[in-house]
Amino acid sequence: MIENLIRFCSLWMLCGAENEASSARRQVMPARETEAIILKTFPLGEADRLVSFFGRDSGRLRGVAAGARRIKNRYGSTLEVLSHVQLRYVERETRDLVRIQECELLESFHEAQSNYSLSTGLAMISEIVERTLPEQEVAEPMFRLLLLAAREVERRGSWELPLAYFAFWAVKLGGYLPPLERCAVCGNAFGDEPGFHFGQAAGLSCARCGKPGMRPLGKRGRELARYFLASRLDEIELPEEIRKALAELRETTLDWIEHHLERRLQTREFLETP
Ligand SMILES: [Zn+2]
Repeated sequence: MIENLIRFCSLWMLCGAENEASSARRQVMPARETEAIILKTFPLGEADRLVSFFGRDSGRLRGVAAGARRIKNRYGSTLEVLSHVQLRYVERETRDLVRIQECELLESFHEAQSNYSLSTGLAMISEIVERTLPEQEVAEPMFRLLLLAAREVERRGSWELPLAYFAFWAVKLGGYLPPLERCAVCGNAFGDEPGFHFGQAAGLSCARCGKPGMRPLGKRGRELARYFLASRLDEIELPEEIRKALAELRETTLDWIEHHLERRLQTREFLETP
């Protein structure tokens, strides 16, 4: 019994959940407001949710939505993955977690959120933001990219192009996009030949410098990358025959993201290819 209580208390502390009695004694901080995109939520205790969100004016933050697990709660569907919301929250002096006061839905991606295959694409996009962006760092271009990607998964009813475009631009905005036309080892130009990649390398290798297990990024995939650099996602229409190049480019950029993070993306294996 006592053991359980201790475990419960330490879990409570770990999660940074609120201790109402002591917080009431602390100075009240002014409420802040930001446009935000919900990245992920976790159950917290019996009634609350821990919410990870990316605010246009706040950067990535985590907060507690009190009562969000109750059947009747004021959050409704606002806390779904990648929901676009207006969020009001209070910072607290001594904790990393903010307290969410209000969350109003600006834009819902209901089709994508309720479709299993599409939701695997949303989850991957959300994980990339979660893992690559430091907390509390405002990143306006990334915010716009994320919103555009979520809208396009919803509008197209497919995650393939939005995810590939998003992942590619996440690498570009992160500042670790390697040269696409030359071998990172020997410097030779690829020309019409593919470059090769895997999760243990930051760039592309030629066939001679490549290692076993590397996968190709062909000429069309590299052309597609240059096209992404010059185009807005909502203006791109790709012919069906470019799907293979699109998948190659997606896999390449996911490898670069994993190499940059020095860890695997958990959602990658759950991506449901249509
Ligand atoms: Zn080489």
